[in-house]
Amino acid sequence: METYPNIKSAATIDAMIRYAETLLGIRFTSIRKNRYSALCPFHADTKESFMVYVNKDDEVRFHCFGACKGDWDIYDLIMLRKKYPFRKAQQVWAAQLGVENFKFNGGSSPGIPEPDETPEPDEPVGFVEPKKRDEKMVAALEEAATFYNDLLMSNEDRFKPIWEYLARRGVGKETIGKFNIGYAPPYSDEQYSGRALIDCFLPHFEKDADAFSNGGLFRFLNDATVKGYGYYCRKIDFRRKDPVSRNYGDFLAGRMVFPIYDADARAIGLVGRRPGDRGVRWLKHQTREVPLSARSWLYGMDKAQHNIRQYRTIILVEGLFDYFAFTNLLKDQDKQVVVSTLGSYLTSEAAVILKGLDIQHYIVAYDWDELGRNGIERIAAKTGGWVYYLGGLADGQDPYDMLKPVVDTISGFPLKHVL
Ligand SMILES: [Zn+2]
Repeated sequence: METYPNIKSAATIDAMIRYAETLLGIRFTSIRKNRYSALCPFHADTKESFMVYVNKDDEVRFHCFGACKGDWDIYDLIMLRKKYPFRKAQQVWAAQLGVENFKFNGGSSPGIPEPDETPEPDEPVGFVEPKKRDEKMVAALEEAATFYNDLLMSNEDRFKPIWEYLARRGVGKETIGKFNIGYAPPYSDEQYSGRALIDCFLPHFEKDADAFSNGGLFRFLNDATVKGYGYYCRKIDFRRKDPVSRNYGDFLAGRMVFPIYDADARAIGLVGRRPGDRGVRWLKHQTREVPLSARSWLYGMDKAQHNIRQYRTIILVEGLFDYFAFTNLLKDQDKQVVVSTLGSYLTSEAAVILKGLDIQHYIVAYDWDELGRNGIERIAAKTGGWVYYLGGLADGQDPYDMLKPVVDTISGFPLKHVL
């Protein structure tokens, strides 16, 4: 009776190479006995980084020395390429070798998650942050933001749930246009399969791969080190000939896209927010107390800094939708002094930016829970001015909910009086 570890020894290497060439579409170069190389089928490889070798336990292994850095056996390879469960991969391989007396292992593969086991990771927020900031990167981010915005604007019917979700959160067409808000269709989308940006920018991308990959706009789907690997590696699309669009997806696929601009109105990153009523504590769950960027993004800074200087007053809110709620509240007031810290945390870098604006009055409209209160205290410690906050919010109550009933008073309030 054979078991699965028995039939992947060096004795089977020729059969493995044949199988991988004919049925998995991988072309090997023989280097020496029991050693082969190939263009890695899992990333956009140009250097034959994919190696076949026999390890000290006499087991044939496949290893990518390139972007994947993965190490697989034949079952892993079949599972990845064919999107089969472990049991089916054993079946296929045993049949290929003509092994009849085979005892299946009913468990799961030690290397690869079962195809249907890993759901999309539950991360309602994603960030695209370039590794370095230069002209190319700014251009790539701006092009991407505009591309996703066009996609959303020109598909009101197709992306109706997104439009409806945004409308429920106080973000209408005018705001979508003004803030260049977009949508990146998900992997499940039949037309785009999570590659709307890649497919559109592919010619561009191949010429200048660095700007896009360093820009963080694309997700490498075979990265075993990330959360949700089992989910993303199933999204590798082997029907695609082009190695880039086969093995990469849009990083923000399935998310609404909010570009972040610095005070000079230049794009510095993108925030992707999955639609769904998961509440506004999204950022803290994801990053806990760690700021999302050393550079510290402040959403809305480009639009508010003039008024902040003029009134020497700022209203800090936590989340993106808090930001839009407060912005709507102050829309016609010429008091656009709202900025979102994207979480209840003002980083030192962000504090430096604010210090440069010579602010006297900080109005901090954070949620009234432990994280929110800590955030308020930190801001009080970091800033030289007065800090006002909304106390006494009920658990789970949005700062905006508390202010809604007093909209009239607020819209009448002259900031001069606050000063
Ligand atoms: Zn690879």
